Amino acid sequence: MIHEVNCKKIITRTKIPVAKYVINPYIGCSFGCLYCFAQFIGPFKYTSSKWDRDLWVKVNAADLIEKELPKASGDFFLSSVCDPYQHVEKKYQLTRRILQLLRSHFREAHIMTKSTLVSRDVDLLRELSVTLTITTDREDVRKILEPGAPAVEERLNTLKKLKEDGIKVSVFVGPVLPMNPENLAKQLSKYVDNVFLDALNYHRLVNSVYTKCGWQEWLTEEKFFETVEVFEKIFGKDNVRY
Ligand code: SF4
Repeated sequence: MIHEVNCKKIITRTKIPVAKYVINPYIGCSFGCLYCFAQFIGPFKYTSSKWDRDLWVKVNAADLIEKELPKASGDFFLSSVCDPYQHVEKKYQLTRRILQLLRSHFREAHIMTKSTLVSRDVDLLRELSVTLTITTDREDVRKILEPGAPAVEERLNTLKKLKEDGIKVSVFVGPVLPMNPENLAKQLSKYVDNVFLDALNYHRLVNSVYTKCGWQEWLTEEKFFETVEVFEKIFGKDNVRY
């Protein structure tokens, strides 16, 4: 269910290393990744709702940005506990409006998304940095672990399109999901020179699914570092961060 809400505040100071502030235009995320920590971190945990089903749209986001921006000097990250380009963004365009406001106030922004919709805003992305999250090359895995998110191939096509449009785009392979590492690294290396990998943190959220699918080895440190090594062979050691 989608709820429209007027919030009291939208710009939040953050300790994450990429930016000084975060903006989350939505509470909840219809991409519904099974491993997502935003289910129990941030405002969603107070809603006692179902992850991937219930969503709050901060309809007064633009008004709040205009009000709060003069007091927030520094760069911004969209978003820490939702995907800024999840399905409802097509209708509400909150992220687009926020980016317009940040640009008009000369603020830097970093965007992280799994969504193909990001290419709609190519006119606003030129001075920003965009990170596309691509966690596996296997569509069967994506369907189970990221059920509402765009298909792997669609994300690769979006990556290609953003590069062709001259956008500064990087790739985050995180969390590393069951995959063919060589195949994914080779596909990504057509478009980017370096990648950032991260391990899956909250095993308890996916333990039963991994057991059912026979993917348990992908929860081990060994498998993560094996994957890193394959990426390092294809990208070069200096071009893989983890
Ligand atoms: S896209 Fe990001 S915020 Fe949305 S459910 Fe997946 S991990 Fe969570």
